[in-house]
Amino acid sequence: MPELPEVQAHAERLTGSFGGQPLERFTPLSFSVMKTVQPAADEADGVLLHSFTRRGKLLVAHFGAPDDPATISFVVHLMQGGRLVPDDKQSPRPRNGLARWRFGDGRALLLTEAGKEHKAGVWVHSGDPLAQPPLDSLGIDADAATLEQVRSALAAKNQRLHGFLRDQHGLAGLGRMLANEICHTATLSPFAMTTKLTAAEIDRLYAAIHRCIDSALAFERGLDAMSTSADRPGAVHRRKGAVCPICGDTIRAVEYNAYEVDYCPSCQTGGKVLADNTTSKFLK
Ligand SMILES: [Zn+2]
Repeated sequence: MPELPEVQAHAERLTGSFGGQPLERFTPLSFSVMKTVQPAADEADGVLLHSFTRRGKLLVAHFGAPDDPATISFVVHLMQGGRLVPDDKQSPRPRNGLARWRFGDGRALLLTEAGKEHKAGVWVHSGDPLAQPPLDSLGIDADAATLEQVRSALAAKNQRLHGFLRDQHGLAGLGRMLANEICHTATLSPFAMTTKLTAAEIDRLYAAIHRCIDSALAFERGLDAMSTSADRPGAVHRRKGAVCPICGDTIRAVEYNAYEVDYCPSCQTGGKVLADNTTSKFLK
């Protein structure tokens, strides 16, 4: 799943490529993709694309000047397998196609989603999209949160650190990969409880959040298109059985149905191998 760095770099690429173009027409290609009914998407016809921005892991296409009350925006949630890509063919029934934005110069962007389960969605808003669903329920963006904001988000609910990092209502923008990498960089157990972290541990966590986001963003900005998760460099994510680049120990994983938590015992848990007594594969 694309996370904050991938979506941020993609928004910048899309603004560079399509900014200033008028929208010719927006066409939903799937019944399930539209999450709003009003305003009608055709209210954006002929309006210039101002920019693409990012909030959490979602893209926002802003048509019209941001201070214009008549501005129309499209919020796009790529979810797991969604991508927003240049649509050179513009075929009537594109494979995996969910929605198309065609611009005045004849180019188009296609929202695609691989797989059978179509979860990606598009919301159309007039006025401030940040104050409306689904963006209005997000926590503060992980790259913008201050140390104090991270501290109070951690204190709001006692939960495992890895789950906290992935919860979009606490900090927005982080997913499975960054959660794994941040815990490793901070030398904290992914199962550490958030209200039990010491001040020094929170300091390390805060620094790790910024270091991991900055390095992923620098990598992603060097690409012409959004990376796949297998391309993204990491120390522990999906590296079970490999050698930790920091200490040489073997990377371990706690495996769940849909994902795994990867960590280095020597760096993060004092050498202890983690097993989840409620959901690990050992009890399935
Ligand atoms: Zn290590």
